[in-house]
Amino acid sequence: MRRVVVIGGGILGLAVARELTERGDEVTLLEKEDRWAAHQTGNNSNVVHAGLYYKPGSHKARMSVAGNRSILAFAREHGIPAEVCGKLVVATQPSERAALHVLAERAQANGVPARLVGPVEAREYEPEVSCVEALRVETTGIIDFPAVCETLARLSTSAGADLRLGTRAVAIRPRQGGGVDVATETSAGDSGSGTLRADVLVNCAGLHADRVAELAGVRPRARIVPFRGEYYELRPEKRHLVRGLIYPVPDPSLPFLGVHLTRMLDGSVHAGPNAVLALRREGYRWRDVSPRDVADVARFSGSWRLARRFAFPVGWDEVRRSLSRRRFARSLARLVPAVEPGDIVHHGAGVRAQAVLPDGGLAEDFLIDRAAGQVHVLNAPSPAATSALEIARHVADSTET
Ligand SMILES: Cc1cc2nc3c(=O)[nH]c(=O)nc-3n(C[C@H](O)[C@H](O)[C@H](O)COP(=O)(O)OP(=O)(O)OC[C@H]3O[C@@H](n4cnc5c(N)ncnc54)[C@H](O)[C@@H]3O)c2cc1C
Repeated sequence: MRRVVVIGGGILGLAVARELTERGDEVTLLEKEDRWAAHQTGNNSNVVHAGLYYKPGSHKARMSVAGNRSILAFAREHGIPAEVCGKLVVATQPSERAALHVLAERAQANGVPARLVGPVEAREYEPEVSCVEALRVETTGIIDFPAVCETLARLSTSAGADLRLGTRAVAIRPRQGGGVDVATETSAGDSGSGTLRADVLVNCAGLHADRVAELAGVRPRARIVPFRGEYYELRPEKRHLVRGLIYPVPDPSLPFLGVHLTRMLDGSVHAGPNAVLALRREGYRWRDVSPRDVADVARFSGSWRLARRFAFPVGWDEVRRSLSRRRFARSLARLVPAVEPGDIVHHGAGVRAQAVLPDGGLAEDFLIDRAAGQVHVLNAPSPAATSALEIARHVADSTET
């Protein structure tokens, strides 16, 4: 029986732990926080994407279309709250129609059921929406990703996996003859620290994936640059303005989908996320600053090349929107004109682990690298939560070749 250590207790680490345990491996999973899904997975939009945005044939396209089905089937099987509500991508002005049509073609190429509708039909779905044309996508859903994580953890544990909260991987030493030793530190202090011997290492450390790869002696192809996404929420008396999910036509040069309106499972309506550079990898507020994380971004040549491409006007606009509720509300009012600044209140933030290449390009697809006895998930941004069960199968297969 192989001994596998998985680093990271977000949705990917937990899905990999369950997949490998079911395949007969002896799995130990390490999560430095005291709960599952503490970072990206627990602070995201909870949308089960349909798979329409991604380049046909890419990991993202294949795994999100399949992942949409598999995660919803998993939710049904285990009684996890989820709903297939569909969504509208809306062109709010004639200049956006060409990009909307490209998106419709991409949806078709990826096998996603989506159709173009005029403003009258769009308003049958969303009476308050502003639109000249829209793409109606039927298979988009909403889910409770942290509940998915709890279930994955329970299934793995009952199948024999050893899942450890409050346990950080602090050093990784490749052993002669194969495998690695993983040194751990627990939040309980020295008494819980130790060394684990593993035949296979799987790195699902999210915002720290590049650093964990380096600990294991692997030079990552890309560095993680953290982007914070802030959310607002519609006041309860304004929730009626949105029935389901309303998205803008995305800017194809950016990896983020643009601020959108999402009705959650509890009936609340979230708005966001925007995208600003975070000054700490796990920094959820402007005042969260890590000198080490800032220095890492500053030392990396890819950050400067990225800044040259996006700082003006896109990055600067995002910063201004982050600092001004009025500006944020104005972006929402492009989609639903009745939304006013007084209708929205702050509702937390998430930080995306965006892998950036040395030339300043954004790693567009999922990036999963192998070394002897090691698999490193180096770029798993949205729609990786949707695709989690598919990524887990792919990672598990990769450990066997
Ligand atoms: C704002 C936002 C909105 C998003 N919206 C969606 C969406 O609607 N739908 C969708 O499909 N995707 C969405 N995503 C993307 C999705 O959340 C991520 O792709 C997914 O959660 C990645 O999961 P993960 O397990 O790789 O990372 P994480 O959930 O970040 O988990 C990594 C874990 O590793 C742990 N860790 C790191 N280093 C160590 C170490 N040395 N030792 C032990 N543990 C360690 C961390 O504590 C963390 O818990 C969104 C992301 C963000 C940020």
